[in-house]
Amino acid sequence: MRYVSEFREYKLVEGITQRIARIARKLAREIRLMEVCGTHAMAILRYGIKELIPPNIKLLSGPGCPVCVTPDEYIDKACAYAREGFLIATFGDMIKVPGSKGSLLEEKSRGRKIKVVYSAMDALKLAKSSPEEKVIFLGIGFETTAPTVAASISVAKEEGIANFMVLCGHKLIPPAMKALLEDGEAKIDGFLCPGHVSTIIGSKAYEFLARDYGVPCVVTGFEPLDILQGINLLISQIYQGRAEVENEYTRAVSSEGNPAARALLKRVFRVSDSQWRGMGTIKDSGLKIAESYSSYDVQTRYPMEVKSSRKKKGCRCGEVLRGLIEPPECALFKNPCSPSNPLGPCMVSIEGACNVYYRFGCKGV
Ligand code: SF4
Repeated sequence: MRYVSEFREYKLVEGITQRIARIARKLAREIRLMEVCGTHAMAILRYGIKELIPPNIKLLSGPGCPVCVTPDEYIDKACAYAREGFLIATFGDMIKVPGSKGSLLEEKSRGRKIKVVYSAMDALKLAKSSPEEKVIFLGIGFETTAPTVAASISVAKEEGIANFMVLCGHKLIPPAMKALLEDGEAKIDGFLCPGHVSTIIGSKAYEFLARDYGVPCVVTGFEPLDILQGINLLISQIYQGRAEVENEYTRAVSSEGNPAARALLKRVFRVSDSQWRGMGTIKDSGLKIAESYSSYDVQTRYPMEVKSSRKKKGCRCGEVLRGLIEPPECALFKNPCSPSNPLGPCMVSIEGACNVYYRFGCKGV
C-alpha cells in the first residue's frame, strides 16, 4: 500500500528537481512540454511545479479540459433542445459555458428544464422516474467519461427506457495530439500524457506519436512527484535523442488500458470526425452513437440544425487550448473575465486553464 505523502516527500522532490536542473542546463535551449489533461493543469499550478523547474523548461496546457474543447455549436444545440421542451441533464460545469447565443444557465432562468446530474446513470434514473419527459444527457468528455455514457445507453436499451437520449460530443485525445504536432505552431518537444484517459486506452495508444513524429511521450499521475518524474523522463529522452512512450503511472495505467471499457466503447460508439474549439474539425477525433443504438441518439431521433455565429470578442480560448498563449496573455483575463463572470469556457470549468491560472496564479502573473 502506497500513501499520498510518499509522492510529496520533500527529499525526493529536491533530488528530482536537481536532476531536472542538471539536464536542462545541458539542453541549453527552450524545451516545450505539453500536458493534455485538465487535472494535470490543475496539479502543475496548485503545487507550484513551474516554480520548481528551470525557466528553459516551459510547461504548456493543451486541449485537456472537456468542457473547454466543446464548441459553441454543441452548446447552441443543447440550448435549442431545451427551448423545444426537452429536459436537459448535464454535468454542472456545462451549464455556465456561453455558447454563441447564451448559456444553458440563461435558458434555465427562462424556465427551461435543465438539471445538473453527477453521472450519465443519474440521467438515466431521471428518465426512468419521469416517463413524461424526453431526457437528453449531454455526453461530453474524453475516453475516461465515454465508457460511463456507453454503459448508460447500453442499460437504457436493455431496460427499454425509450425517453433517454444522449447528445453525443465525446472526443478522443490521441488524434488531437497528432493534430497539434501536424499544425506545428505550438512547437511541442514532448507530451505529458493524461493519466485518467490512459487508464482506459493504455500507454500503447501514444506509440504512433513517438514513432511517426519523433516526440517523446510520458504517461504521468497527478501527485507532485509524478509530474516532476514525467518532466525528468521527457527531458532525459530529449537530451539522449530518444522518442519513446514511457509509463511513469504504472500504479494505474497498463500498456493495454482497460479492455472491458474499450470493448464497451467499441460496441456503443463509432469513431467519427469531430469539431474542437480553437482547432476546427479533426479527423477521427470523436465518437458518435452506433446505428444499433440510434434510438438513444437525439440527433438521429430529433435532428436539430443551429446556426452558431457570434464570435466572442477578445476571448482567446482557442489559442490557450492550442498551447500558443498562457491565460494571462488574454487581455480579458481577471478583468472582466473571472470564474464568477466567465467570458469563455476555459474560465468556467475548474479544469480550464484560465480558471486554474486565476485560482492558483503562477510566476509572472
Ligand atoms: S481569460 Fe477569459 S476571455 Fe480570455 S481566453 Fe480565458 S476564458 Fe477566454
